[in-house]
Amino acid sequence: MELECAVQKYAWGVCGMDSSVAQLVKAVQPDLEVTDDQPFAELWMGTHPSGPSVIKGSGETLGEYIRHQPGVLGFPVIEKFGEQLPFLFKVLSVNQALSIQAHPNKKHAEELHSARPEVYKDPNHKPEMTIALTPFQALCGFRPAQEIARHLKDLPELRQVVGEDAAQSFTENPGEETLKTCFSTMMNASIDTISQALTQLLDRFSQMDDGEGRDLLRELFQRLHDKYPGDVGCFSIYLLNYVLLQPGEAMFLGPNVIHAYLLGDCIECMACSDNVVRAGLTPKYQDVETLVEMLDYSMGPPENRKFEGFKMDDYTILYNPPVLDFAVDMIEVPSGVDQYTLRPVESASILLVVEGGAGGIETSPSAPGDAPSPPPTLQRGSVLFLPAGQSLTLRPTKQNSRLLAFRALCVL
Ligand SMILES: [Zn+2]
Repeated sequence: MELECAVQKYAWGVCGMDSSVAQLVKAVQPDLEVTDDQPFAELWMGTHPSGPSVIKGSGETLGEYIRHQPGVLGFPVIEKFGEQLPFLFKVLSVNQALSIQAHPNKKHAEELHSARPEVYKDPNHKPEMTIALTPFQALCGFRPAQEIARHLKDLPELRQVVGEDAAQSFTENPGEETLKTCFSTMMNASIDTISQALTQLLDRFSQMDDGEGRDLLRELFQRLHDKYPGDVGCFSIYLLNYVLLQPGEAMFLGPNVIHAYLLGDCIECMACSDNVVRAGLTPKYQDVETLVEMLDYSMGPPENRKFEGFKMDDYTILYNPPVLDFAVDMIEVPSGVDQYTLRPVESASILLVVEGGAGGIETSPSAPGDAPSPPPTLQRGSVLFLPAGQSLTLRPTKQNSRLLAFRALCVL
């Protein structure tokens, strides 16, 4: 069944046709109006009530369809998650940093929800998987101790916000406890301390000439400050890893891992939840106290944050995180291949075509009951819902182009 999916136009999205979200939607909805001043931030594929997908041709939402025929989810999914799709699948197109955040584990999510339901709207955890479509920049996890110590030594402005005492105890005894004190002092620093330190560092950077070389962190600091002037989050880049994912590289964000997306387009899959604890680089509600307490303060290089996929066959890599809620297939069929059959899986799945096209679509066994049959062709931007146990055969149509697609599923 082909789906029509919701677009979210958050202000941080990439504007106009530079956005992968706009390109994918426009390819299947040529009438869609795309203007250069409009951000196309996220494409949502799933049943989330804030942006439900609709079955093309029938007008029914995917959520309604699943309620009427829960068997399409697959028995192991129903047994584990009840009669609902456990994941939300997305495309993101990020033009400016979006909030420093972490997601609580299941037990903590339940506690936060029962204590403050108006802020933490549901009791579920929210693990996330990110796979880059373009070179994708993010902050993720804490840097190795010696890098943090070097930044504290080299940048008096950073020491001001972290506090001289906290900075000294970290330098003398670098560990998770002393790092937590540094991070906590920084996030709780007064507005005056922060703005004074930010101004000083910006002044110092502006006096450095290009002869001193292009410095990635200096540029990032200035870029963040342009968007979030006065925000303590600008200093976080000296404590957190800067991760650059190349297209096809992935990152898994388990509970309590601090992260912020900075720039680029990606595929994202997550458990169906809204639970985000934010602090810094956001106009949204910030909960510094909860974030500081919950974080995983382990330190290590950015390479450790990348998540390796598993090669299922010649054309499919499975990214299977240590949670049951979701996994993602990356399917790349090179030009010249006549046909490829996606393996049947024990859960329902959602397939998105990102590049290329395919015809002669066949499903086996054919769709149950009154389900709409698959479209005769798939193209860039096509989104398909596949019931559990169904295989799909594709015959690529574009001879000079690869077929690139992603599929959200569960491995139970
Ligand atoms: Zn997140």
